[in-house]
Amino acid sequence: MEKIRLQKAMADAGVASRRKSEELIAKGHVTVDGKTVTEMGIKVDNHNKIEVDGMPLKHEKKRYILMYKPRGVISAVKDDKDRKVITDFLKEDVEERVYPIGRLDYDTSGLILMTNDGEFANLLMHPRYHVEKTYIAKVQGFLSTEEIKKLEKGIQFKDYKSSPAKVKVMSKDTKKNTSLVRMTIHEGHNHQVKNMFAAVKHPVTKLSREKYGFLTLDGLVSGKYRDLTRQEVALLK
Ligand code: URA
Repeated sequence: MEKIRLQKAMADAGVASRRKSEELIAKGHVTVDGKTVTEMGIKVDNHNKIEVDGMPLKHEKKRYILMYKPRGVISAVKDDKDRKVITDFLKEDVEERVYPIGRLDYDTSGLILMTNDGEFANLLMHPRYHVEKTYIAKVQGFLSTEEIKKLEKGIQFKDYKSSPAKVKVMSKDTKKNTSLVRMTIHEGHNHQVKNMFAAVKHPVTKLSREKYGFLTLDGLVSGKYRDLTRQEVALLK
């Protein structure tokens, strides 16, 4: 059998993404044949006994879940401040160690994918993978035509320029001085939507992701999830 890198073997077995697996290795959580390994690049195969925190790697069925993340939940598998995490919403029917693909902020609700398939997670999170994500933002004030154009053309931040976005004002609340805006982007920088609106001086007060590529939240309520169909997984790859 072909040897593969330790972090890939861990990702394939559903421990965590490859990057998170590298962190686990570096922090000394991983042993190969009883010896702690902290350097990267070591190659393993089926004959090696790999343990993470003393738990042997076992090959799990690949699982792909679409969840409607509630507001006030961390998109991670654990939180050092003991706040509610997204995996707390999974019932006994999910035995696999799934983790979120990318993140939604604590106060953002909406569509998030989870998997134990490291390759799949890496693929979808890769900057070159241009999946469109659509958000509904409640923002302060009313956007001018120039501000909408700025958002559509891309905002220059310190470390990146946002790619062209689609922006549509859906409604305005003149009493509350807020607008509902639908924005579609295909990148996933930290707090990107909030930062884009902040750049045109219309801070976001509420944010939700309603679409991820062709996937929607249809049929789900907050806190619920479903498995992706095989066809959906194949279409995303
Ligand atoms: N952009 C944000 O600002 N927050 C999110 O949670 C997702 C996208």
